[in-house]
Amino acid sequence: MARKSTLASLIAMSLMLSPAFAEEAESEEAAEKGYAELIADLAAQEGLFNFYRNTDSGETMLSLREEQLNTPFIYHAQTMDGVVEAGHFRGNFRDTRLIEFRRHFNRIEVVTWNPRFVFDENNPLSRAAEANRSEAVLAVLDIEADDNGRVLLKADPLFKSQALHRIAPWANPNQSGPRFSLGQLSADRSRIARERVYDNNMDVVVDYVFLNEEPVVFGSAAIADPRSITISLQHSFIEMPDNDYQPRRDDPRVGYFTQEFDQMTNPEWAPWGDVINRWNLVKQDPNAALSEPVEPIVWWIENTTPHEWRDAIRQGVEDWNIAFEAAGFKNALVVKVQPDDAEWDAGDVNYNVLRWTSSPRPPFGGYGPSLANPMTGELISSNIMLEFVFMSNRWTLGELFSNGAALGDYHNFDDAHMYCSHGHEVQMGHMLGRLASDQRMYDDIENDPILVQALRHLIMHEVGHTLGLNHNMKSHGLWDNEQVHDAALTQGVIAGSVMDYNPVNIAPVGKAQGDYYSYKPGPYDLWAIEYGYSPALDDADAEEARLQQILSRSHERELAFGNDADDMRAPGRHIDPRIMTGAMSSDPVAYAIDRWDLVNHEFGELLDKGREDGQSHQRVLTSANMLFGQYAGQATVVSRYIGGVYVERAYVGQTNDVRPYTPVPRDTQRQAMQALNNYVFAADTLESMQPVLAYMQQQRRGFNHWGNNEDPRPHQMILNMQRNVFNHILHENVLLRLSDTAMYGNEYSLTDMLGDLTGGVFNGTHTTVSQNLQIEYVNRLIGIAGLEGGSGYDNLSQAAAVGQLRRIRNMSAPRRAGDSVSNHYGYLHLLIDRAFEA
Ligand SMILES: [Zn+2]
Repeated sequence: MARKSTLASLIAMSLMLSPAFAEEAESEEAAEKGYAELIADLAAQEGLFNFYRNTDSGETMLSLREEQLNTPFIYHAQTMDGVVEAGHFRGNFRDTRLIEFRRHFNRIEVVTWNPRFVFDENNPLSRAAEANRSEAVLAVLDIEADDNGRVLLKADPLFKSQALHRIAPWANPNQSGPRFSLGQLSADRSRIARERVYDNNMDVVVDYVFLNEEPVVFGSAAIADPRSITISLQHSFIEMPDNDYQPRRDDPRVGYFTQEFDQMTNPEWAPWGDVINRWNLVKQDPNAALSEPVEPIVWWIENTTPHEWRDAIRQGVEDWNIAFEAAGFKNALVVKVQPDDAEWDAGDVNYNVLRWTSSPRPPFGGYGPSLANPMTGELISSNIMLEFVFMSNRWTLGELFSNGAALGDYHNFDDAHMYCSHGHEVQMGHMLGRLASDQRMYDDIENDPILVQALRHLIMHEVGHTLGLNHNMKSHGLWDNEQVHDAALTQGVIAGSVMDYNPVNIAPVGKAQGDYYSYKPGPYDLWAIEYGYSPALDDADAEEARLQQILSRSHERELAFGNDADDMRAPGRHIDPRIMTGAMSSDPVAYAIDRWDLVNHEFGELLDKGREDGQSHQRVLTSANMLFGQYAGQATVVSRYIGGVYVERAYVGQTNDVRPYTPVPRDTQRQAMQALNNYVFAADTLESMQPVLAYMQQQRRGFNHWGNNEDPRPHQMILNMQRNVFNHILHENVLLRLSDTAMYGNEYSLTDMLGDLTGGVFNGTHTTVSQNLQIEYVNRLIGIAGLEGGSGYDNLSQAAAVGQLRRIRNMSAPRRAGDSVSNHYGYLHLLIDRAFEA
């Protein structure tokens, strides 16, 4: 983190050279006027930088003190308002980086660089620290005047361009077909809307107008006219905090967002100096076991928030204090309400705001970004964006499953950890809770346990992100499949962490309802906050021993941790089925079976519960799609156990026999396969949906049906779910892993698995659902075997697939089978014969 440029020498150089440039600049009109003259008629805001505005033309100027040149500032870009098509939405934290204004003769260069490469200043190698790295010169601005220790610059060229931040989406060479385009930025139509200048920071909000003469993709109704689109973006400049903040090192056993540093002169095996993102909490009374912080983390509830939800939101924030008390802080988080006549707005980086919007195209249910000092990880500002849709019954997942929408993205709305997609899942969950408990929405919000728990949970989750915590998708195993429904036991903690993506915890049919969601910090949360926030000891060695003491518990079951970089939501990706979204209890397979039974039960009740005199069938349709999504989601969870490997990140000697990789036991894998065979591959899978099909009708709206046939497509729905499971259990990574893991303990072989799968898919009962599945399976096996064209699969998997094809080729239609079954076997034989002959 060594500072490279030496301020003194650069100032000296500029002073030395300035006479030579004075002559040349004399021809330019602007330079003839002095600083005082140039700003004479301008409206001024003075602070970190001085910001001037011509009150006639709106033109702006910026002035910096000489000592602010060649010194780093934190730069942050945030979307104030935008369109989702272009990747922008209100409150979107986009970019945080270091910038410097560097003087080069008569101009100022705006430069950014990456501070991650750290050299020990005492090591001669540090003299080569600049080797093979590139800084970026984002903009170059002429000095208009240089007087009284200040330089004056025209601000319009800096802000009315994309110099500081790229606003238009980057080109994506992998995307085929026409895509939405903003067109060209128009500096003429863009405007610097407003600025806030404080002593330590400055925000400049710019409305960027893009023009596209020939738009190809028009976008949604949120776009008034695709030829002219406005994106409003805030640029923030923040002075480097001047305090005694001590960074805390990161550790692989606990899940914080980090700033990564490579120690370029360190000979260790893992020479990293990563630090966690956290707030600078300091005890008022360092000697007290429990003390209030000098400065608490203050949260403001935005004045756009509906009144009836403010109590639950406040509670969701304040419950984090339970975790901070365990780390020695009392009232670490404080909640206030933004007055309706407040003079500050929620984009101001000096305020942490819980914001509430209802967007035309909600990009999420909740989102909790934060801004950290890139040099130290100290958190400076954060926001939480909540979308009203989270509380509604609106279908938000795009195309309906019943119209043939693929399931691939159901658990995978967005890969980026910052764009927390949890709200969507929670929304679907409380729809299910409502259906199962037969409660109407909005009857009585404060006494509606589903909504209140869902909201408190979502707030805790998003606030957790802003405290520095990333997801913990491994925490759902806290209770077993019985305990998790016992509210007397769970008391608001159904998982080890609120940072998990748990499904709504609905009681199985015939069981009493427990807690719907985790709405209090779990044991992992308490432990993680203790690691991140408990005050440091002065002595470095003693401090490291103290941290190791905390971390040495990481292998305890209730402290289990694994984040998005480990979770298995995408088929074929990652290896530990216990690190998974949408999973619940220490026995997710048993939990899934309960959920499948519940969904089948609810389909049976749906015509009673979902229809209301005088209403359309929209509620039946949305509910049926939600129930199907719940069913399919659990199929995904269960499939991950096949070929899985348990991961342990404990350090050597931390506990007995630390073993990083343990294949999932044979019995567990077989149970998962058995469950899939019974509930996903069975001939009667989702038969419960059949009585509802004739009622799954969308409410007509104008001409929206044009070109889209409105009939439900159950074969496509069910096959999509089955394909989704195949995408994982027949993935090349998974099939190869079944062979690889046999070398270190796996007892469920590739042949066992494919044999069990063939047995489940060809289970002897014939329905059109099973025939549809069998054809899909045979085609998959042909693809794996590489009989028609190449195969990306390993040799062992190809041979195993051929073995299953031979087995299936030997099956035939039972005697006296009808034409449908005979035709089916004839087709399967044709497919296999043709493949073998190819
Ligand atoms: Zn999240």
